Order: sequence, then C-alpha cells, then structure tokens
Amino acid sequence: MQANTTLPWTQSNPHSIMENMVLERAVEMEHKAGHLQHHEHHHHQQIGWLRASVLGANDGLLSTAALLTGMVAGHGGRETLILAGIAAMVAGAFSMAAGEYVSVSSQADTQAADLAIEERELHKNPDLELLELTRIYVHRGVSEPIARQVAAQLMEHDALAAHARDELGLTEIAQARPIQAALASASSFAMGAVFPILAVLFVPQMNFLLASLILLTLVFLTALGAVAAWAGGAPMVRGAVRVLFFGACSLAATSIVGHFLGVTGV
Ligand SMILES: [Zn+2]
Repeated sequence: MQANTTLPWTQSNPHSIMENMVLERAVEMEHKAGHLQHHEHHHHQQIGWLRASVLGANDGLLSTAALLTGMVAGHGGRETLILAGIAAMVAGAFSMAAGEYVSVSSQADTQAADLAIEERELHKNPDLELLELTRIYVHRGVSEPIARQVAAQLMEHDALAAHARDELGLTEIAQARPIQAALASASSFAMGAVFPILAVLFVPQMNFLLASLILLTLVFLTALGAVAAWAGGAPMVRGAVRVLFFGACSLAATSIVGHFLGVTGV
C-alpha cells in the first residue's frame, strides 16, 4: 500500500462523525424501546462457574469412588476405606486448587504481557497498527476500504480493546481471580468426593458395599452430566450418557485391578 494514502483514522470528518452519533443514538433508543428484539440467548456467557463446579464435583466423585471401589474389590476393611477416601478427597482438593491457581494466574500473566506489548505498539506505531487491524479484516473477507474504515472507527472508540479482540483473540480482558478459582474447584471436588465416603460410612454390610458404591456413583455422575449439559444448552441425555460411559469404565477398571490385587494378596 502507498505511503501517501490518507488514512481515515488520521483524517477528521466532522460530518460523518455527526451522522454516526445520530445513528448511534437512534439505535440506542430503539434498544431501549424494545424494538430490537434480536438478542438471542447464549449459554456460554452464564455457565462458566456452573460448568467448572460440575466438572470439579465430577472429578471428586469419580476419582474417590474409583479408588474406593478398587479397595472394596480388594477386600479392604472399612476403617482403611474411610481413611483412604478422606485422604483422596483432601489430596484431590489441594491438587485441583493448585492446578487451577497456577493455570488461571499464568493465563492472566500472559494476557497482561500481551496487552502491555500491544499498548506500547499502539503508542509507538499507530499507523502500522491500523494497517495491521485492516489486514485482519481483509483476511476475514471484508473489502479493503471498508476494512480500513472499520479498523479506524474501532480504534477511535477503543484501540486496545479492538486489537485485543481481533488480533490477540482476547474476548474479555483479564478479570482472572486465581484464588477464587482455586477455592471453587477445591470445594466442588470435595463435595463430589463426599458421596462415596458417606457410602462407605453408612452402607451397613460390606457385601453390599461394592454394588452400592458403583450404583450411587453412576447415579450421581449421570445427574451431574445432565446438569452440565443443561447448563451448556446441550442435549441432556447425550451429556449424561457420556459421563455414565466413562464413569462405568473407570469403576470397572479399578474394580478389576482391586479384585486381582486382593486375590493375589499384593
Ligand atoms: Zn496490534
């Protein structure tokens, strides 16, 4: 592109700015009056926390239940089972918390670093940055003059936000709360892990314990799978069947391992 092309970004056109303001105002008023009803409901905006806690509970339930199932199949005594169940719950909760903390904070660090670089570039080379954004839109199928106009207007509105979104792909600028995320996944893991431990505590006969553990775990897993699917706007049956299948596989695997290790007396 030639260097002498005037960039809409740098030229000021009071007439078109006035027109834009009038148009913007009209759209805003129509919104308020409820004439623009085209605002479909998207699930992914609201389910973040619910999905995360359902997944945490899923983890806690399945890993603790699978461990206990294996130990019951290997003829572990009730006291050992309770001890192992609680140890699994605590260890799992801490490991979830640590993992979540590290992942959320490193993600936030990366975002902050990216944004800092972008901000510096916007300050140093606004014209190159405009060109860059224009090219992104051209790449997505917008014709060059319109792409340049869109890029210029977006940068006039909020240059950093426009680059964050369309160049870096950051849709929401870091509101990462690593401690909150860590506490949430630890507590949901623990909540899931409580159920198999309660089963060990309250099922009176050891003979029924294996069957009760498996049944209880599969029922709760199915329910959690359905809730996760519902929250994400996905078909509930499919979500439930999916976790049921993987849950049954892991319980079967640990039961078999537990059974054989118990038989051989390792
Ligand atoms: Zn940029």
